[in-house]
Amino acid sequence: MIEMLNVSKKYNNGITAVNNLSVKIEQGEFVYIVGPSGAGKSTFIKMMYREVKPTSGTVQVGKYNLTTMKEKEVPLLRRFVGMVFQDFKLLPKLTVYENIAYAMEVVEKSPKVIQKRVLEVLDLVGLKHKVRMFPNELSGGEQQRIAIARAIANMPGVLIADEPTGNLDPDTSMEIMRILEEINNQGTTILMATHNSQIVNDIKHRVLAIENGRIVRDQQEGEYGYEI
Ligand code: ADP
Ligand code: ADP
Repeated sequence: MIEMLNVSKKYNNGITAVNNLSVKIEQGEFVYIVGPSGAGKSTFIKMMYREVKPTSGTVQVGKYNLTTMKEKEVPLLRRFVGMVFQDFKLLPKLTVYENIAYAMEVVEKSPKVIQKRVLEVLDLVGLKHKVRMFPNELSGGEQQRIAIARAIANMPGVLIADEPTGNLDPDTSMEIMRILEEINNQGTTILMATHNSQIVNDIKHRVLAIENGRIVRDQQEGEYGYEI
């Protein structure tokens, strides 16, 4: 599903954020990415949806070879890779319905398909009753659930979550995890960068620990393994 081979990223300021990293992730896996701040986690993740281009090495995501991919093909990749962020990134002037519908309109889904799917994903995250609300009328946890609904609306093969519980309290974080687990159980591959040791240690999945741009630990049913 995802394969990185000898991938490095050196930014223009001379920092090597990812250093000759290789990894393989199979379809349907749930993988935590852990490591100290500045380890290269975000750079690693951003290379999977072509937000960052590697300086060397190859990246394959699903049927897409990101190394040889043309710029005009990037939108196709972005349909295959759903994204969720720490700060939700909902569009503040659009309602819950419109935020999710918009993600489907840009890929030219018909109004009928959109309407059905928006309600379906809202049902999955338990927020059908908030369909007409605006983001600022929702709690942080609710906003993140909407962001997840939006990320899966186009049925991506991979869902990438960069610190999805970073701004949420422990109970709300667990609700988010229950939703991610359900999405994973439906077959979607999930990559989640996190500093949440409780989640990693309680809900066991493969752990990739990154330090200084390299994978220093790759453990099935792994542990968080850092003090902070
Ligand atoms: P690239 O090598 O991908 O072209 P750049 O070095 O040009 O990346 O930087 C891309 C953007 O990231 C710039 O807007 C830059 O200001 C910002 N940036 C620079 N240094 C850092 C840093 N240490 N952490 C996060 N962002 C940074
Ligand atoms: P993490 O997500 O683990 O905190 P990052 O991938 O954000 O790690 O950063 C890895 C290293 O690359 C850090 O030293 C950071 O300052 C640097 N870095 C990240 N983004 C940029 C950028 N756009 N331009 C230059 N340096 C960057």
